[in-house]
Amino acid sequence: MDQPILRKKTASPTAFADPRVPLDPALLAQIGRYDHVTRLPNRLQFIEHFDSYAQSRSTSMLVLVTLADARQYNETLRALGMAFSEDFVRSGADLLASLLPDSVTIYHVSVLSFAVVLPVQDTTKYPAVASEIAKAFTSAITINAIPIKTHVGVGLVPLSAAQGAAESLRAALVAAQDSRNATDGMAFYNHKSDAAHLRAFRLLADLPHAMAATDQLALHYQPRINLQTGQCHGVEALLRWNHPDLGAISPAEFIPLAEQTALITPLTDWVMVRAMAQNRQFIDAGHAMRVSINASPVNLSEGGFDEVLLHHCDAAGLEPHHIELEFTEGTLATNSACAVEQLGRLREAGVDVALDDFGSGYSNLSYIAHIPADVLKIDQSFVRPLKEPGDEDFLLRHIISIAQGLGFRVCAEGIETEFAYSHLRQLGCQEGQGYFMARPMPAEALLDWLAARR
Ligand code: C2E
Ligand code: CA
Ligand code: CA
Repeated sequence: MDQPILRKKTASPTAFADPRVPLDPALLAQIGRYDHVTRLPNRLQFIEHFDSYAQSRSTSMLVLVTLADARQYNETLRALGMAFSEDFVRSGADLLASLLPDSVTIYHVSVLSFAVVLPVQDTTKYPAVASEIAKAFTSAITINAIPIKTHVGVGLVPLSAAQGAAESLRAALVAAQDSRNATDGMAFYNHKSDAAHLRAFRLLADLPHAMAATDQLALHYQPRINLQTGQCHGVEALLRWNHPDLGAISPAEFIPLAEQTALITPLTDWVMVRAMAQNRQFIDAGHAMRVSINASPVNLSEGGFDEVLLHHCDAAGLEPHHIELEFTEGTLATNSACAVEQLGRLREAGVDVALDDFGSGYSNLSYIAHIPADVLKIDQSFVRPLKEPGDEDFLLRHIISIAQGLGFRVCAEGIETEFAYSHLRQLGCQEGQGYFMARPMPAEALLDWLAARR
């Protein structure tokens, strides 16, 4: 097996190479097989070496070490720049090298990840050196006198020829990600948690098709009731996905996935266009109605979302007051200046704005007064336990009273019992939503439901 190039410093070239001079074939073979930051053999080289590892008679383990998660690395990049971040990766490689015998080749397989193959007796036990690695990286790496905390992951997978190089690396990466939740900082590849990863991957790959298809995504509408009059004056649009192979997928599963990708933007667009067109039809059928649309934090952290919403509103022939936008506390955590400005402009234009799942986050009390919203939707966790007289309602009562004292309208979510309904009404809560009144339903069913209440 080739030995890795020594990580010695080379003099930097003073001029660009003359393209007419043919390059040494040995040099050409090495270009593309070594990482320019650490001068370690790279993923391509690992793949080329894989078979000789896998075919060796001794059992071995692939160990993948990731220095930090991407978010942490990006923060370092932003704050300290690229040269510093490269120093961080080099120092990580040096620390790793100091823990391993010289005979072990370290591969730099992605920006933040290193792979090594260790001979082992027992593939079900952590090799001693793996825990040494996990331990060594718990102290900060000091670069230019600045201590940088690593957030190392150590993932292990027994090496087998059957699995192949790329799949082995992927499995080890999954394990390294899992290891961040393990107390000892290491994790074996776990088929179960990986099944979840694969399903997530599949859902994300299939979502664009679902958006283009006519029979996969649909909106259901859940009535929102004025608790004092019993009237339905609004509906919340809730997304449904009927996957051709996997069946019904909960929005609680696929929306958080879409939020990790750029897909959340066209998805929210999809919802806005349909929900608004449908609301036009509800109004035309004689039901004065406001439709509530759920926005993800990402939507509001991107500039121009307010204009897109108002454009769709206009195109659907609706007035802004026919629309309510629901956002969550998470929105105010990420790029909050942009979100707050957009929420302000939407409110000025006449759109109602509601804070969803109020009370489920970990926000401090002082921020309540400054929430840029007209309505607070109290999280179901405060409402669903209300089943009979005497059930605990201390927090609920005080949340309603504080919210109303600050001038918000209050909507209780998750009203499942007659007792919860009448109790909230007595507490002066203005609005409510819940299975006791109606479940989310397709538009046609909602029209029937509305007609039956006339
Ligand atoms: P959410 O916005 O808090 O919506 C309320 C959820 O509670 C809905 O679940 C609704 O069906 C359910 N629900 C309503 N009343 C009751 C009740 O009395 N008891 C119980 N146990 N549940 C009740 P669903 O439709 O499964 O949606 C889950 C979450 O997915 C939503 O929570 C929302 O965060 C997200 N979601 C759904 N549609 C969209 C969408 O179009 N865009 C975005 N960004 N998120 C959406
Ligand atoms: Ca909602
Ligand atoms: Ca909610």
